[in-house]
Amino acid sequence: AKNGGRNMVCQVTPALQRQIDDRRSLASDIPRAIERGEFVPFFQPQIDVQTGRIIGAETLVRWQHPDRGMLPPGQFLQSAVELGLIDRIDHHMLVAAMQVSLRLREAGYPLPSLSVNVSEARLIDPLLPRQIDTLWIDRDCLLSIELLETIYFDEASENNQFSQNLSQLKELGVRIETDDFGTGRASMTGLLKIAPDRLKIDKSLVQEVVHSSQKRSLVKAIVEMANALDIDCLAEGVETQADIDAITALGCCKFQGYAISYPQSEEDLLAYLSTVPIA
Ligand code: C2E
Ligand code: CA
Ligand code: CA
Ligand code: CA
Repeated sequence: AKNGGRNMVCQVTPALQRQIDDRRSLASDIPRAIERGEFVPFFQPQIDVQTGRIIGAETLVRWQHPDRGMLPPGQFLQSAVELGLIDRIDHHMLVAAMQVSLRLREAGYPLPSLSVNVSEARLIDPLLPRQIDTLWIDRDCLLSIELLETIYFDEASENNQFSQNLSQLKELGVRIETDDFGTGRASMTGLLKIAPDRLKIDKSLVQEVVHSSQKRSLVKAIVEMANALDIDCLAEGVETQADIDAITALGCCKFQGYAISYPQSEEDLLAYLSTVPIA
């Protein structure tokens, strides 16, 4: 309407209200759930199609809720951030992931690398490098931290503690990966400053490559830039063989997505690893 919706009434439908209440009650359960160990790591394998081998996995948190079943991060992560509890969940995922890495090695199926997601709160925690140094027991398994592109190229990169953490982590040999690359506000100077080991190209971009020649050109440019800077590339969210073929043709050979495997529990990952070649 003409008056720009100034008189618009914001109506909360019963269904929406239920959703809001639901989220609130779920959020209030988070502190106890942390103590009870209800946050568990799932793992999504990554492959290099040039060799056909598994090169690693990403750790993704799930909430094993006693009444509601296995919940994905979309249902609780934002609340955890708002409640200031995300750093505790991240820490817990790191501990769990490092233990899984060791158990997989003992079982005879060692992963070449594991990555964990780190929130902004965690990145500016002065204790982070020491904690990682202590917890990273299986040094034959590479450890990566995934930074969101938005975090990465924003104020945080101006933050002293962040810069200090980053250089200490690099000294320890921890690899740095950009998450969701191609969606945020990455600047070239930001990219050079952080100097990540790998760009993870976002699934929204990846999934459009087969349909759009513009997106194809964009991904090609990203891969070429990464090559020129000696940065590795991995395409996230590949759901079909056609996605994989189209992106391989652009020079990126590392993949993660439903086309390879869904995120899975430690137990399922172990079973999976026993059936595929590992790098
Ligand atoms: P992300 O880091 O970009 O992780 C990839 C997400 O894409 C995962 O969603 C994964 O299940 C999903 N995915 C993987 N392959 C495909 C595919 O082929 N198609 C589609 N449509 N989706 C695919 P998930 O597990 O629900 O996680 C959502 C987000 O939550 C993650 O996005 C990450 O930003 C955040 N997150 C997950 N675990 C943690 C954690 O331990 N700590 C922190 N701070 N954030 C986490
Ligand atoms: Ca990630
Ligand atoms: Ca991502
Ligand atoms: Ca994401």
